[in-house]
Amino acid sequence: MKPEPINFHDLTREALRLQVVRWGFSPVHAARLWAYVYLEDVERWADMPELPARFRAKAESELTFTRLPVALEQHSADGFTRKYLLALADDRRIETVLMRFTGRVTACISSQAGCAMGCVFCATGQMGFARHLAAGEIVAQALHVDRVLRVAGQGERLRNIVLMGMGEPLHNYDAVMTATDILCDSAGLSLGTKQVTLSTVGVVPGILRLADEGRPIHLAVSLHGATQAERAALVPVAKKWPLDELMDACRYYIAKQQRRIFYEWTLIEGKNDSPDNAHAVGRLLQGQNAQVNLIPLNPTAGYGGAPTGQDAARRFQQILREYHLPSTIRQRRGIDIAAGCGQLATSQS
Ligand code: SAH
Ligand code: SF4
Repeated sequence: MKPEPINFHDLTREALRLQVVRWGFSPVHAARLWAYVYLEDVERWADMPELPARFRAKAESELTFTRLPVALEQHSADGFTRKYLLALADDRRIETVLMRFTGRVTACISSQAGCAMGCVFCATGQMGFARHLAAGEIVAQALHVDRVLRVAGQGERLRNIVLMGMGEPLHNYDAVMTATDILCDSAGLSLGTKQVTLSTVGVVPGILRLADEGRPIHLAVSLHGATQAERAALVPVAKKWPLDELMDACRYYIAKQQRRIFYEWTLIEGKNDSPDNAHAVGRLLQGQNAQVNLIPLNPTAGYGGAPTGQDAARRFQQILREYHLPSTIRQRRGIDIAAGCGQLATSQS
C-alpha cells in the first residue's frame, strides 16, 4: 500500500531538506521548492520550472499542500475586520480573522477545531472539542491572510499573528510550535518571533515548557477571575491547574524569559467587573512584569452574561493603575460579524 502523502505545510525547512535528501535529491531543490511556496506563493507543480522534472514528479507523488477553501467570508461594517470560515479536508470548519488596527495587519488564527477547555462564555468552548489542527493547517491560515493582502495589491503584508482563534494552543503544543517555527523562518514569511502572540487559558505544563524552550513569542494568559473559586466558575480547567500553580508558572516564565506577560480579562457585567474584582487583580499581579488586556464580553448563544459598559471598564482600569499595572480596553470592533472566538462557526452549525 502506498504511504499517505506528506503534507508540505507540516514541514519545517529543515524537515523538508531531510526529506528531499532521503529521496536522493539535492538539498538545493528543497530550498527552491520552499522559496516557491513561501516567497512566491506558487503551489502548482507546473509553475515551478526551475525544479527538474524528475524531482517534481517525485515531489508531486509524495507531497500534498494544505488547502483551506473559504466556506464563508464576512466583512465588518467598519472595514477593520474580515472573518473567514475555512474548510478543513475532513469538512470541519475553523475561523481565521484578518484585523487591521493601527495600520498593522494581524491574523487571528485557530489552533484546534473546537476546544476541550469549556470556558462558559466562549462560543468555541460551548461547541466542544473536535480535533487538533496539524501544523500545516495552522500555517495555511496565515498564508491565506497574506494571500488576501497580496491580491488586494496595496503593498500590505501580514506582520502579526495572534493565536487567539478557536482552540487552546498549549493543548496542541507540538503542532503550534512547528507552525510558529515555519511562519517565523527567515527564508519564508519571516515573521519576527516577537510578532507572534500565543494566548492560553492557563495550561501550566505548557507555560513551563515554553519558558524552558525559550521561543521569543509573546505570551497572553486568560485570567478572568482573581480567586480560585471565581476563576473556576468561568474557566473549568482552573480545577486542574489552580490559580496559585498558574501564578507560579507565570512568574517562572517572566523570570526565565525576561519578558512581560499579557493577562486577558473578559469583562462580564456584574460578574467580574466590580472595583473589588479590580483590586483583587491588582493584588494578584502587583510586582509582576504584566499588562492586563480588558475585553468586554462578546455575548454568545450559550451564555447569558452581558458586556461591561465603558464607564465601569474605565473605573476597572483606573484601579489597576493604582497597582502600577498597565492595561488596555480592547475595542469591540467587528462585533457586527460576531467577531468573538468561535462565533461564526457556531452560527453556521
Ligand atoms: N484558548 C485560548 C485562546 C483562544 S480564546 C485562551 O483561552 O486564551 C482568546 C481570548 O478570547 C481568551 O482570552 C478568551 O477568554 C477570550 N474570549 C473567548 N470568548 C469570548 C467572548 N465571548 N467574549 C470575550 N472574550 C472571549
Ligand atoms: Fe477554549 Fe480559549 Fe474558548 Fe476557553 S476561551 S473554551 S480555552 S478557546
